[in-house]
Order: sequence, then structure tokens, then C-alpha cells
Amino acid sequence: MSLPRVTVWNEFIHENEHEAVRAIYPEGIHGCIAAFLKEAGHEVQTAVLSQPEHGLTQEVLDRTDVLIWWGHVAHQKVDDEVVERVWRRVVAGMGLIVLHSGHASKIFRKVCGTPSGFLRWREAGESEVVWVVEPSHPIARGLGPNFVLPHEEMYGERFNIPAPDELVFLGWFEGGEVFRSGCTFRRGRGRIFYFQPGHETFPTYHQKEVQQVIKNAVLWAAPQDEIRVGTEEVSYTPAEPVMKLRDTGFRAVEGLHDIKK
Ligand code: ZN
Repeated sequence: MSLPRVTVWNEFIHENEHEAVRAIYPEGIHGCIAAFLKEAGHEVQTAVLSQPEHGLTQEVLDRTDVLIWWGHVAHQKVDDEVVERVWRRVVAGMGLIVLHSGHASKIFRKVCGTPSGFLRWREAGESEVVWVVEPSHPIARGLGPNFVLPHEEMYGERFNIPAPDELVFLGWFEGGEVFRSGCTFRRGRGRIFYFQPGHETFPTYHQKEVQQVIKNAVLWAAPQDEIRVGTEEVSYTPAEPVMKLRDTGFRAVEGLHDIKK
């Protein structure tokens, strides 16, 4: 079986506007993530906000098994139509990995159904201990009990998300706060993973444990069978009985289920 095909999406603004960020990510955050995934053998495409349709055309999505999302200052500039296209593909089975400040993106808010932009934050360059709270989870494969990020932006509870299906990582920050740093969700046929590390002014995505988590998450989030586009639609198709029905004497009222346009 071939490895999942990945598309890495980045708003790609900080790297263009701030030399300090460009110094850490000369090829952009998307370029850094794409590089270590390519090295792991994945077919990887990248897409950025400034491209037509933000680089997420139907053709690109049709070749994507797992989409990775990094955004921060331009969530509102992402077209609703593109968000809807991504959402339809997610519920049809495409994996979605939302990183760091992507917690406030339109697509993640749609996944959550809550104002997931709400959390506590502080940019002080403090350290973070990322604790593995579900060591048997495929996303935690190859990791020890914890790993340390020397510098990270503090994200603290409460993080306004619905209770995740699984909590894989819990982050503890030097200032005392804790955060649900690695959360999984299932929506329709799609698997979604949110991962907190990745503030643009720190070299987080160069760290090997962080790369390991993202590589694991790609394998976990990948569709388990084919992506079934169309299954996200409301179905008004009457269901054939699985077994032969006895005659209940019931006669359906004609026209009752005609959908009014
Ligand atoms: Zn940040």
C-alpha cells in the first residue's frame, strides 16, 4: 500500500513579513513540514493563501489523503467556499491535521462547532513539557513519556473545544498553565487531529519529536478505505429493508415525504 498523499497548507504571511521568522523557516513553515514528510516517503504538495482558491482547488484536494493546516493572522481571508470544499472532503474521509494557531481557523471552528479560537495565551518563549497521556495511540508511536520544547508560545485552558474523542497529549508550560495539546476528533468518515506546538518565532517544526508526531498523525488520519465523496449529503433515499418485512398492515400516506423546494 502506498503512503498517504499529503497537502500542507500555510497562510505564508509571517515568513514574508518578518525576517526573524524567515530565518527559521526560509522555505516557509509549509516547506519545512513538506520536506520531512517527503523524506518519510510521502507524495507532498503545498498550497498557500495567496494562490487562486488558496491553492486548494478540487483537483488538489482530489489528490490529497491528508491535509495539514497552519494559519494565524488571515483566518478571515480564507474563502468560505474553499472551507466548504475542504469540509466536504473531510467528512467524505480525508484526514485533517490542524496545527497551533489553526485552532481559530474557519475549518477547525467548523469541525468543533464551538468558538475554538478561545484560549489563554502568552508569548514569552517559555518551555513546554508535552506529556503523552495515551501511549498506545498511533500518534504517540516512538515517543517517550514526554518531550520538552525549549521555547513555545503558551496556550492555556480553557480551550473552547468540544470534548475530544481522544486526548493524546497534554502540554504543561513553565508559567503553570496546562493545555490539551493533542486532540483527535471524528467527523463523518474523516479523522481530525489538532496539535498545539508550532509558534512561528520558534523552530518547533525542526524538532524531531514534533516531526515524529506529525508523521504519526498523517498515518493515523489517512482514510482507512476510499474517500467516498457524496456521503456527506443528507440522504432522502428510502431504505430497502435488510430482512424481509412481515405485512404490518401499514400503508404509507402518499406524498407525505415529498420535499418542498
Ligand atoms: Zn503562535
